[in-house]
Amino acid sequence: MAINLPLLKELCEIPGAPGHEERVRKIVIRELEPLCDSIEVDGIGNVVAMKKGSEEGRFMMSGHMDEISFMVSHIGDTGFLHFVPLGGFDPKTLTAQRVIVHGREDLLGVMGSKPIHIMTDEDRKKTLRLEDFTIDLGLPVEKVKELVRVGDVVTREREIVLMGDLINGKSFDDRVGVFVMIEGLRASKSNRMDIYAVGSAQEEIGIRGAMVAARNIDPDLGIALDVTLANDVPFVEQHLFVSKLGGGTAIKAYDGSVVPNWKLRDRMRELCEERGIPHQMEVLPRGGTDTAAIQRGGKGAAAGCISVPTRYVHSVIETVHPDDVDASIQLMAALIETCGKDDFRL
Ligand SMILES: [Zn+2]
Repeated sequence: MAINLPLLKELCEIPGAPGHEERVRKIVIRELEPLCDSIEVDGIGNVVAMKKGSEEGRFMMSGHMDEISFMVSHIGDTGFLHFVPLGGFDPKTLTAQRVIVHGREDLLGVMGSKPIHIMTDEDRKKTLRLEDFTIDLGLPVEKVKELVRVGDVVTREREIVLMGDLINGKSFDDRVGVFVMIEGLRASKSNRMDIYAVGSAQEEIGIRGAMVAARNIDPDLGIALDVTLANDVPFVEQHLFVSKLGGGTAIKAYDGSVVPNWKLRDRMRELCEERGIPHQMEVLPRGGTDTAAIQRGGKGAAAGCISVPTRYVHSVIETVHPDDVDASIQLMAALIETCGKDDFRL
C-alpha cells in the first residue's frame, strides 16, 4: 500500500467532536510544522499552517478535523445518558454501537434502545429516532454523576482495519481529507503561491471553522478536501452512485453548497490526464463542504474540492479505497506545484 497507513489510522481513531478537536489538532500540528514556515491556532480552533511561495497569492487548503458526535443533554435517574447529535446521523446506525463519553475521563459506553423482545406490534412499525437511544456506561448513577456532566461530548469507538482491498472504520469523514492535505503538501516538490494548510474546526455543524479561516486568509484560490458518497452498492441504481470506490479521486463539479470555479475544475481534470492520476467527476445533489466557506470567505476565491469516494458515510463502517486516497494526494500535490494566483479568473 503506497499510502502512510499508520498516520491515516492514527488520525481516524482519535476522537474530535465539533468544538473539541484538540487531540486531532495535536497530530495535525505535529505533521504540518516541519513542512511549513509558520503555524498558529486561531480563535475557533483551526490550525493554520503557512508555507511561503515563490510568487504572490494565497492558496488555502482545508480538511475538517471534527467528526459527527453527540453531546450529553441529561443524566437519567438510573445513570443512563440522553444526548443530542452534533452532525447528521441516520438513527439506524446507532444500534448496538460502542461510544466514548468524554467526561472527567474517557468512559466506554454502549448505545441502547428498547429491546426487541418487549416491542409491541406498533413499536416495530416505527422507525427509530435518535431520542429512542440512551448511553449505558455500566456504572451506578452516583458514579456516572461524579464522572459525567451535561454538556460533555461523546464520540464513536471503532478501530480502523483492512478489509479486502479496502480500509474500513470511523471518521474517514474527514480525517482522510486532513490526511490528503498533509500528504499532498509533503509530496509537492515546489509551490508558486503561499500555501495555507487549514485543519478546520466545526465543519459538521455548519462549516464554521473554515468560514473563519477563509475570512482571515482571504484566499485567491482554495481547495477543500473531504469525502463524497460512493453509493456503488446493491439496492442503489447506477445513476445514484455519485462516485465509485477504486474509480480514482473525485473532482467536485457540484454539491448542495457550491458550484466550484469551472476553470479550476477543468485544471484538475487536465492535471489528472497529464500525470496519469485516476479520477472521476462528482456531482453530489445534497450536502455541503468547506468549499462553500472558501468560495464566500474572502473576496470570492476560486474554489474547488478534491473528494475521496467513501461508502457508508456517517457510520462507523465508512470505507475507502487506498488507491483513491493515493490519487487524491497526487492531485493535491499537482495543484500545489502548478497553480498561480490569476490562473482561474472568470
Ligand atoms: Zn466531511
